[in-house]
Parts: sequence; C-alpha cells; structure tokens
Amino acid sequence: MSNYNWCHGPNCHTIQTQSRVRGSGDNKVLRTRKVKVYTGRSMFGNGGGTIWDYFCNHSCLMEYMAHHIQAVINIAPRSKALETPIKVEKEKYESERYDFGKEKRVPYMATRTTIKSVDNA
Ligand SMILES: [Zn+2]
Repeated sequence: MSNYNWCHGPNCHTIQTQSRVRGSGDNKVLRTRKVKVYTGRSMFGNGGGTIWDYFCNHSCLMEYMAHHIQAVINIAPRSKALETPIKVEKEKYESERYDFGKEKRVPYMATRTTIKSVDNA
C-alpha cells in the first residue's frame, strides 16, 4: 500500500504554488499535490483513514465536496430528522450583575438551563 495519495481536489493542479511545480526547463507543469497517509491512531479508528489522507488542504476538500456532494449524500441519505431524548433542567441560583446606575454589583436570581442525557439502556 502506498504511503501517499494524490490530492482529490479537482483544481489542485491549477493553483500556482512552488510546491506544485514539477519538471525542468521549458517542460514545467503544476502537478496535483501528494498527500501523506496518516498511519497512526486517529479519532476515526486505527491506521488512519481520515479525510486528510485525501486532500492537501481545506480548499481542495471543499471544492471536491462542491463537485460531488450529491453522490456523497446518496451514500447515506437522511429522509427524516434524528432525535436524541434529553431532560432539560432549569435551576435558580443567586448571581450578581453590574448596575450602571448604582455603579456597583447587585445580587439577582439567575436561571441556569442544563440539557442532560437520558439513558436509554
Ligand atoms: Zn490539493
């Protein structure tokens, strides 16, 4: 398995940077950048497999997505909203705010809203 992929950005080979210039004399070209494949542990599992194994930068990723978004969506379409059961807890607590008229901090009752997970197991 190769340790590199070619960047999948559709216009990567047209961007004028020194890192893309290849060839010699009058036979120079702008070439798609090579992307090093990450082989360490990642949040997406062992042995790499991150999106940055295929794109040299954010711009190339976004151009690819703009060109292929419908095909990507068709892999796992979502026809209805997903929901996560939660509990919303509101609690009153004493806090302070600055009163500009009195030019000092004054106490008041504030409300803290907390979203809690519900264990479905
Ligand atoms: Zn690129």
